[in-house]
Amino acid sequence: MTEERATEERRAELAEGIAGVRARIAAACAAAGRDESEITLIAVTKTFPASDVRLLAGLGLTDIGENRDQEARPKAAECADLPLTWHFVGRLQTNKANAVAGYADVVHSVDRPRLVTSLSNAAVRAGRALRCLVQVSLDEGTPSEVRERGGVPPVDAPALADRIAEADGLELGGVMAVAPLGADPLPAFTRLSEVAARLRRNHPAASIVSAGMSGDLEQAIACGATHLRVGTALLGGRRAIVR
Ligand SMILES: *Cc1c(COP(=O)(O)O)cnc(C)c1O
Repeated sequence: MTEERATEERRAELAEGIAGVRARIAAACAAAGRDESEITLIAVTKTFPASDVRLLAGLGLTDIGENRDQEARPKAAECADLPLTWHFVGRLQTNKANAVAGYADVVHSVDRPRLVTSLSNAAVRAGRALRCLVQVSLDEGTPSEVRERGGVPPVDAPALADRIAEADGLELGGVMAVAPLGADPLPAFTRLSEVAARLRRNHPAASIVSAGMSGDLEQAIACGATHLRVGTALLGGRRAIVR
């Protein structure tokens, strides 16, 4: 198969993925009495090549999510000519804040004060404005599980939000969460929407609710999500990641 032909086939696959996800979003919005224009679809392109990001952009999907700096940084550089919004959605080590502040527009995974300080310093140094979301832990599992998946307990979200709002170079965008593994996502997303509403009382502009992935975007939309982070349903199955 020629390279051109392979590119065409991949473009068709991605177009089909986008159409399928958009149809699910439309149905979920109709069921929830919401307008589709309230929803931002983020393509989570981790493990997929920069060529896929380019094809997605050509198909009109320009919000791109990544979860590891070492993979995201070169991809963002390869796609620097495209009008993309880069979302960093993974666990973030403090020592990666500098690098991430160089290309990310939105960081979804802010879950501790030290990270706020690092991102603030990095954003100021880079002369960029970074939108930050408070990642909220909705896990009721063991403490080690909570650490693995990241996020602050709901009760600690307002204080962290205040810190972001006060930090130079940062803008408080709202909240983000990942539904607990193997549990009904509805109660968890409902809790997230309550945390979001509480933050908006002090920070009315913090309107982003980042929730919903390939398997649970309908429940997220029902609970007020504004940003969906979708990988598999758009791009297909990921191969195992070697850590
Ligand atoms: C990978 C990832 C997603 C997308 O997951 P899918 O199930 O493939 O849609 C969403 N959010 C985060 C934080 C991720 O790491």
